[in-house]
Amino acid sequence: MKIIAVNAGSSSLKFKLFDMPEEKKLVSGVVERIGLKDSIFSMKQNGETVKEIVNIPNHTVAVNLLLKRLVDKGIVDSLDEIQGVGHRVVHGGESFKDSVIIDEDVLREVHRLSDLAPLHNPANLVGIRAFQKALPDVPAVAVFDTAFHQTMEPVEYMYSVPYEWYTKYGVRKYGFHGTSHKYVSIRAAAMLEKPLDELRVIVCHIGNGASLCAIKDGKSVDTSMGFTPLAGIAMGTRSGDIDPAIVQFISEKEGKRLDEVISELNRKSGYLGLSGLSSDSRDLWEAVERGDQKSILAVEKQAKMIADYIGAYFIQLGGCDAICFTAGIGENASETRKLIVDRLGALGVELDYEKNLSRGKETVISKDTSKIKILLIPTNEEVMIARDTMRLMNQN
Ligand code: AMP
Repeated sequence: MKIIAVNAGSSSLKFKLFDMPEEKKLVSGVVERIGLKDSIFSMKQNGETVKEIVNIPNHTVAVNLLLKRLVDKGIVDSLDEIQGVGHRVVHGGESFKDSVIIDEDVLREVHRLSDLAPLHNPANLVGIRAFQKALPDVPAVAVFDTAFHQTMEPVEYMYSVPYEWYTKYGVRKYGFHGTSHKYVSIRAAAMLEKPLDELRVIVCHIGNGASLCAIKDGKSVDTSMGFTPLAGIAMGTRSGDIDPAIVQFISEKEGKRLDEVISELNRKSGYLGLSGLSSDSRDLWEAVERGDQKSILAVEKQAKMIADYIGAYFIQLGGCDAICFTAGIGENASETRKLIVDRLGALGVELDYEKNLSRGKETVISKDTSKIKILLIPTNEEVMIARDTMRLMNQN
């Protein structure tokens, strides 16, 4: 059975086609600059990428083009072979505690939740509609970034603010990257050869966006992102946790509106803000090599924030079996992993510096004597989307 996993953004659409249940990736690709001049369609098959610069005015044209290319390139003989479409949807609020088969009620609810994710949910909806037009008879499933964290207890997800902010407006911690955290925890159990429901795991998803998740018995008990993805640890361009009073203070000092200050916390902070150089970890580590003090501060600040969260989650979980690193930085930047783990000596954690040089493949990177296993696990959100799509289609 062929299932396509889709991640639609406002001007982009990523896709991966899987043969299920074997989870064999047949092809992946991305359409970029949708609605802009010189849109780019690229597709990767058997390690080879083909790129086309074409005019793609909207997502419907993007979807039709990618489906046509799947047939042109002989990846499918006919579109009838595609039996399910799985869509990443960022915000499921409190309405969606699991993935769901998409119908009109689901679409209405995802639209209503756009209030909580104004940049993401509308773009996800556009992607869903475009596939509905192109493949009207194929079942579609929504897989939410927030759903995995719906197992959190009120003491974790409530903020200590007037209670009506929650009842009237839904102000609470939702958390994000749930699909990745779930996938990595499942892989951690497989690597440790133990049932997931007997494990306490801390997943560090460190990419351009970054969040940690404390997982007990396969369930998210706490996570570092909050009401929005701005909270938690420092990221490529996001500040992570700060004193909220800074927002008004800077607004007054710089004569900026509140939304402009929040935008700076989202786009001009984190690695980029502290280093003044780049939001990209590779650039920062190059600068660190040159002895650039601000870049050193940027990577150390993030490592400190991550280590502090790990300490808190260790307490919250009542101990920990594995700390997992994933996403662009977590999978590749051995220097960042070392900075973080070197702060965890009090937990009896010991990094194997040699094994820590691994990149992008599942590896145990702690010493045998380490009290907590440290695992490097490449994430795979798309395969989770394909799995959920198949699971829900089979239940239907
Ligand atoms: P993501 O958002 O998961 O795609 O992660 C993006 C981040 O991963 C960027 O900061 C990249 O610099 C970083 N990254 C990707 N590959 C490497 C690498 N080989 N070494 C260090 N950082 C990397």
